Amino acid sequence: MKRCTRCLYDESLPNITFDENGVCNYCHIHDQLNLEYPTGEEGMNKLRAIADQIRKDGRGKQYDVVVGLVEALIHPI
Ligand SMILES: [Zn+2]
Repeated sequence: MKRCTRCLYDESLPNITFDENGVCNYCHIHDQLNLEYPTGEEGMNKLRAIADQIRKDGRGKQYDVVVGLVEALIHPI
């Protein structure tokens, strides 16, 4: 059975493909997400920059943020 050279996925997984180095498409998706949404210090810096931008854009406006909440009530029978 063909297996990814980087992770544990094998060819039994739906829609899996392998590149010329035997690395699966899910590893490539993971790498792409890591670039777009970094974690650690880099991710924190990115988050701070977004928060700064929100504060700047909200200056002088009535509200700072909108928070969406859904409340579910469960009634005992
Ligand atoms: Zn993989």
